Parts: sequence; C-alpha cells; structure tokens
Amino acid sequence: MVNLQKYKAKWLQNLEKAGVFAPAFELCEIIQHAAGIDRAHQLAGDAVLTDKQIDAVEELLALRCKGTPLQYILGKWEFYGLDFFVGEGVLIPRADTETLVELGLKLMKNVPAPHIADLCSGSGCVAIALAKSLPLSQVAAVELSDAAYGYLTRNIKLNEAHNVKSLQLDVLAQSSPSILTKKNTAKFDLIISNPPYIRTSDLKELQREVQKEPVMALDGTADGLHFYREITRLYKNCLKKGGWLAYEVGDDQSTDVQNILEQNGFANITVQNDLGGFERVVAGRRK
Ligand code: GLN
Repeated sequence: MVNLQKYKAKWLQNLEKAGVFAPAFELCEIIQHAAGIDRAHQLAGDAVLTDKQIDAVEELLALRCKGTPLQYILGKWEFYGLDFFVGEGVLIPRADTETLVELGLKLMKNVPAPHIADLCSGSGCVAIALAKSLPLSQVAAVELSDAAYGYLTRNIKLNEAHNVKSLQLDVLAQSSPSILTKKNTAKFDLIISNPPYIRTSDLKELQREVQKEPVMALDGTADGLHFYREITRLYKNCLKKGGWLAYEVGDDQSTDVQNILEQNGFANITVQNDLGGFERVVAGRRK
C-alpha cells in the first residue's frame, strides 16, 4: 500500500508535459476510473493505493499522454444530463451540441407528439436527448458507420429511450429519404443534424485528441458544406409544411448554411449562439 499523494505530483507532471488541457481534472477522473477512488477520497490525505491500482492508473495515463481522449478512456461521457457510451469510432458528444438540442426543443414546444429525424446520429446524443425531453415524440436516429451504430444502439438501451428507432443508412444515398419516411414523404416535424463539417484541408490542424476521433464524423469535404447542401436538397420534402430543419454548423459557416436553406425555399431562418458566442445552430422552416 502506498499513499496516493506520493504519486499525484509525478502523474500531474506527466499529464502537463503531454500538453493535457485540464490535468488535475483529468487525473482525478482517471484515478477514479482505474482505481475506484472517488474525488472526496482522493483529496483526503490518507488515501492509499495497491500496486495493482497504481499499475492500472499508469496504464491509462500512458494512453492519455499519447493523445487518447479522456472520454474514450472513461468509456462514458455526459451530454444534456444523460450518460452516453463512447469509444474509438464514435464522435464524442460536445457541450456546444447542447445548443442544437435546446433549439430543437424550443421549435417543438407547441407540437404535441412530434416526429423527428436525427441524421448523422453518431452516439445518438442529440436523438436521445430530444426523445427523453419529449416523451411523446418519435425519433428516428440515422447513422451509417458500423462502429458508431453500435454505440447508438447501446446508448438507446442505456437511456431506455423507447421512442428512438435506429436506422443504419447512408443519409446521402438518393434512396434514404423514402426509406426513412416509408414513402409517406412529408412525415417529420423536425429534421435535425450535426453532420461532418470540417473542411478536408483543416483536418490535419485539429487538436491531437480530435484526430483520434473518426474522420468520417468530421470531414465535411473541401468546403465543409457538402452535407448541408445534400441533406437540405434530399430531405426538404420529408418535412411537413411548417416543419423545421435544424443544423449544427462550424464556427464560420452560419451565413453559408443560411443561404443554402434560403435557396431551398426555407423561411423563418433562425440562428442560435453557443456558449462561446459562435453562431452554432441554423434552422429554417418549410413553407
Ligand atoms: N465540433 C466538432 C469539432 O470541432 C466537429 C463536429 C462535426 O464535424 N460535426 O471538432
């Protein structure tokens, strides 16, 4: 048995040297995960670790220092007050994306039992957060990647989101809108999406941790706008009249996405800022 405090300074230093953004927080999370010692006990001066616990912590620290995101190491992450399984092959839910959920909820406030589709669903965080907040809604969550789809179905179970139905489809395939709506084209009150939107040439500039996330969830093609153009064109007729299409967008994409919506006949263009002050969500209404 060794006193935890003996190791803490060295471990913190390792994380700092590796350029980890919030080393004290991350160390605390890693110790809790690897050794089962919660925050309060870690802070107590008399916390002790067995050799096995030390090895377990050091193994995870080594992964973290090599750039594996903390969220993948923990295997779970919180979004909109709910837990989601995460790991290699699925985009980690971001706090910014809660802005998308909030706008979606606002837009559906007066719709008693909305039909919603979430395209490029990934972990399912948007679909599941909406479904849990709107128990009478029916939410279709569409994802193509095998790895992400596995997380999506597990997260539906984890959150007991019985009103979410998962579909493994390529949202860009011409046949997908009719599969999604079962040919009843004007079906949805809300179509919502956080598609890949990073310009291909910017991918290599991304933070080391983000580079461990699936490129398929990030690569928005040369100008970053391909998914907005295609989803808007392919799915506009899947909305009921008066239904909403809502997107998360990249830091400098708000105007371009507003234009795409307008060119496709959408009205009531609505923009929402994230907590960092960026125009993060753009929505429009089918006339
Ligand atoms: N917000 C993510 C990032 O900046 C990108 C997510 C996306 O492409 N949809 O890393």
